[in-house]
Amino acid sequence: MGEFETLKQQFPRVRRGVPLKKHTTFRIGGAAKYFFAARTSDELESAVRTAKELELPFFLLSGGSNVLVSDNGFPGLVIQIKNSKFKIENSAVRAEAGVQMATLVKETGKRGLQGLEWAGGLPGTLGGAVRGNAGAFGGEIKDSVLRVEAIDQKGKRRMFSKKQCKFSYRSSIFKERGYIVLSATLQLKKGDKKNIQTIAKKHIQYRKEKHPLEYPSAGSIFKNCDLAKTPKKMQEHFKDVIKMDPFPVIPTAVIIARANLPGLRCGGAQVSEKHPNYIVNRGDARAKDVLELIAKVKREIKNKFGVDLEEEITIL
Ligand SMILES: Cc1cc2nc3c(=O)[nH]c(=O)nc-3n(C[C@H](O)[C@H](O)[C@H](O)COP(=O)(O)OP(=O)(O)OC[C@H]3O[C@@H](n4cnc5c(N)ncnc54)[C@H](O)[C@@H]3O)c2cc1C
Repeated sequence: MGEFETLKQQFPRVRRGVPLKKHTTFRIGGAAKYFFAARTSDELESAVRTAKELELPFFLLSGGSNVLVSDNGFPGLVIQIKNSKFKIENSAVRAEAGVQMATLVKETGKRGLQGLEWAGGLPGTLGGAVRGNAGAFGGEIKDSVLRVEAIDQKGKRRMFSKKQCKFSYRSSIFKERGYIVLSATLQLKKGDKKNIQTIAKKHIQYRKEKHPLEYPSAGSIFKNCDLAKTPKKMQEHFKDVIKMDPFPVIPTAVIIARANLPGLRCGGAQVSEKHPNYIVNRGDARAKDVLELIAKVKREIKNKFGVDLEEEITIL
């Protein structure tokens, strides 16, 4: 029996040649050889096991809001994480990895639970947020995480306490070791419903005004620059814009703006003029264009300020 037939027998919904551009917010990327949307944690676990048994490369895709997929697509099985059950009891939320952050912000806000307001307008899923320790407006997902259930490198389901998650700036043990997040328990606090909902809405509004949401993108391309790791001369030059994220950083958007790079284009990819740490797809951008633009921006910034920008997005 061929690869596809074996997959099909076990996962009748598996498909061939699925364009990944439809599943990423960048709207870029070639086709996945095979594509399977796992609707439960058990389906997700068995799809990973089967891919390993078939020695088939696999890639996990959730909301697709932090990835740049190659123009050549992916020569293996893309497993889309779609497990999406959640339960809110008292002030604890237990949610599967595929639940959209927007759903959690809305549902916890409705119940007057405080802790996820920072995520108002954050695209993507809980699993993606936990893996990358997503953050905005001074908050991070790690602030609310109590424990996480994940599959480790041996394929074993394990429970990780917050400490074992080893959260750091836009990272965690799950990202560092390639563990698969299945679900997480968040501990929130009772608060004032109106106030919580107003803050979350304010963040959504802020993003609409300040971010180039009119074009497809993957959000910020680069991490902000850790102040402590930048040259003294640069610290001096940017001292008026240092912010907490949640430790002192120089916003990369300002660095790119002061290097006069907004508007720079490679093919259909452009450094946003509205938010210079975004690269936007102006219609027909290819991954090749984005990669070329990333390389150009990094080169210019290195020459001008002597600092190496580090990508925040996953490049497949
Ligand atoms: C307009 C816009 C604004 C954004 N603003 C912010 C922001 O303010 N702050 C911020 O931190 N990010 C921001 N992002 C980036 C993105 O929303 C976050 O990184 C988000 O948490 C990614 O989640 P996702 O479900 O889309 O993950 P995906 O993009 O699908 O995946 C990202 C990576 O995580 C892996 N992954 C996904 N799910 C799992 C899982 N369950 N277990 C293990 N690995 C997994 C994937 O394999 C991939 O390598 C923004 C993006 C956009 C498009």
